[in-house]
Amino acid sequence: MERICNFSAGPAALPQEVLEQARDELLNWHGCGMSVMEMSHRGKEFTGVIEQAEADLRELLAIPANYKVLFLQGGATLQFAQVPINLLGGRSADYLVTGAWSQKAYKEAQRFGAVRCASSTEDTGFNRLFAPGEINLDPGAAYLHVCTNETIHGVEVHDCATLQASVPLVADMSSHILSRPVDVAKYGLIYGGAQKNVGPAGLTLVIVREDLLGHVMQGMPTMLDYRVHAENGSMLNTPPTFAIYMAGLVFQWLKRQGGLAEMERVNIEKAKLLYDAIDASALYRNPVEPASRSRMNVPFTLARPELDGAFLAEAKVRGLAGLKGHKSVGGMRASLYNAVSLEGVKILVNFMREFEQKNG
Ligand SMILES: *Cc1c(COP(=O)(O)O)cnc(C)c1O
Repeated sequence: MERICNFSAGPAALPQEVLEQARDELLNWHGCGMSVMEMSHRGKEFTGVIEQAEADLRELLAIPANYKVLFLQGGATLQFAQVPINLLGGRSADYLVTGAWSQKAYKEAQRFGAVRCASSTEDTGFNRLFAPGEINLDPGAAYLHVCTNETIHGVEVHDCATLQASVPLVADMSSHILSRPVDVAKYGLIYGGAQKNVGPAGLTLVIVREDLLGHVMQGMPTMLDYRVHAENGSMLNTPPTFAIYMAGLVFQWLKRQGGLAEMERVNIEKAKLLYDAIDASALYRNPVEPASRSRMNVPFTLARPELDGAFLAEAKVRGLAGLKGHKSVGGMRASLYNAVSLEGVKILVNFMREFEQKNG
């Protein structure tokens, strides 16, 4: 069967090579006579899988030794609570509100203490990042929270230095982690759900600087304490073993592609191709200021919304799927994660041109 070009925002496309490897290993992993899904998480086989996954992730992101890598559950949404529960320590925290996801994080954190909005772009429809001087930081904040790629609004932080954080920076990187190199040392904590650019749903990555551990709020469930997870090597309870295995295969695939610098090069090319096509067209429009545009999630609208249905139906016939925009913003969205090939984006752009010619 032909595979489609999948532009879904998440769960999203995975590299075909990784799916084929998982298929080949499904019934009998490395000659041990069973599937990874059937193994004890404490046996030597799975211990090898999780240790290799962590080592490969550390290598890809060049994670410094004073950071812990945690393989958790509950999605990025649980991190909206788990971050303040672990890091507030009775203080306040600052939040940058740049789109739907950071707004959710900000609202959830309010349940656990005094948190401030250090700046918001809601008044212009979340179509940009901040200009210098627009951010009003509290130097005594426990941390500054930012969503470095807003999956729904298509806004990406390309340089975290522009945030001028003097307190630990906490970043929701769910939808662009591993799409480009990141200087982990600039962050106190990085988190992300796996199902956008890493692997299947059910796994959440947390990368946290060691000195931020050990300040959990009293009375919270043990499962919410980062330090306990770190002390137990992400094996406080049964971790999502198959999702960790799949993520590990993706890490190895990324290394074979040439690592994150090479992924970034291709991702820039893919995004440029699509944005150039949108900007050159009279039918399609992307609302985000060019300097703030996301390489991963490209929302766009049709000047004649009555054509939305026909656009999606004809795209589907061409094998282009997952293009319907998020219900809160409407229109279309193409997500260009690592597993979406340059070839796939070319097919999309050619289709968009043809559709415009036919309906222009
Ligand atoms: C998808 C997404 C989330 C929510 O992730 P879940 O794993 O479904 O909880 C949070 N933040 C960002 C930036 C996302 O893209």
